[in-house]
Amino acid sequence: MAANNNGIERVTHHSNTGHKFIFVFSVQYLSVKKEFTFKEEFNTECEASPTAWSCEMFFQKVLDDGRACILVTLRRKGYGRNPVKACISLYIKDSAEKYLFNSPKIERERIVAGEVIEEHLVENLPFPEMRSYFNLRLKVAVFIDIISCHSTTGKINSETFRQQKFLYDRL
Ligand SMILES: [Zn+2]
Repeated sequence: MAANNNGIERVTHHSNTGHKFIFVFSVQYLSVKKEFTFKEEFNTECEASPTAWSCEMFFQKVLDDGRACILVTLRRKGYGRNPVKACISLYIKDSAEKYLFNSPKIERERIVAGEVIEEHLVENLPFPEMRSYFNLRLKVAVFIDIISCHSTTGKINSETFRQQKFLYDRL
């Protein structure tokens, strides 16, 4: 599994506890492009309680004030009132292979259709070389778990997180 040419790698995994969607991609040359939007739409095709989603991430070139900011949005589409739980884990590395933004994990319970999870990730990059590493290339792995739709024991254990990090480190 290797990311190349801004291509998006997609992995979907359905299990008896939930549905996992993995997207891996690169953001290259923000120094030139200034901004980049990642957008993916997907649905769980759950037999008990299907849900549809759209995920967006907005990246901007870091300016000389050193403030790197990424906007993450996960929107549940459609009309269903059946609440589900969503968990987003993000691994973001700069071109010097340094993890940024503390590899955040965003969890929300009881999301119904029309709801939006929005999160600003902010990191300070005080030195010029840190900003150039960011603006040259980012490697991003997004893990989205949709759970509590066909199983009430929808817990994501720490083992899953270790597997995710292992998967990302192999890239
Ligand atoms: Zn399900």
